[in-house]
Amino acid sequence: MIEIKNLLPLQELDCQLRDMKRELEDIPARKEEEQTRLQEHKANLGEAEDAMKAEQARIKELELEVQSCRDQIDKYRKQQMVLKSNKEFKAMEIEITNVLTKIRGHEDKELVLMEDVEAARSNVTERRKELEAEEEAVNLDVAELDTRMSGIDAEVSSLEARRAELLGDVPEDMLARYERILQRRDRALVPVEGGICGGCHMKLPPSVAQNILKKADLVSCDHCGRLLYMA
Ligand SMILES: [Zn+2]
Repeated sequence: MIEIKNLLPLQELDCQLRDMKRELEDIPARKEEEQTRLQEHKANLGEAEDAMKAEQARIKELELEVQSCRDQIDKYRKQQMVLKSNKEFKAMEIEITNVLTKIRGHEDKELVLMEDVEAARSNVTERRKELEAEEEAVNLDVAELDTRMSGIDAEVSSLEARRAELLGDVPEDMLARYERILQRRDRALVPVEGGICGGCHMKLPPSVAQNILKKADLVSCDHCGRLLYMA
């Protein structure tokens, strides 16, 4: 006598197990996504730092130029001391004034650049804070996923132990058929209600109900292959 309904608790448990295993399989990808979130923030910080370094490099360049102007002036002053005529002295003085004007120009530019560097620096600080906040959030999420993972592991073990108990009196061929269907379908066992298959919702011939009630053999739906029982 075949009572396929006896497999319903097993099916319920197998579906739970399947959901849990799917969730487990998804966890590494979800952890990966968390790292991707972090990468974006790291890239933002990197860009901000590069922008700041570029401004700093421009200041350094200007400082070098100012230094070379000052060297030039020193050179002129030394030359001035050995000049004989007043005319030559004055010409040299004009050269020196020109270089001094150039220095002032550089220094004005430098002041503007220093403000830019400050803005760039506070941008870096902002981006770093964002990254740190994100790191904290990611660490929490990852820890939560790890906790969920060990929770599922424990649940899976206990469900599998329960499953072994349920399998005790199920005939092997029946189990094999049930498992084969469950691999391809959401459910392996479905009820017949009003002459309709509960899996694919197709109309079944009247003989199906009779065959189920005879309990002589497993009865499956001709359309979807799921095993049928009377609701
Ligand atoms: Zn069906």
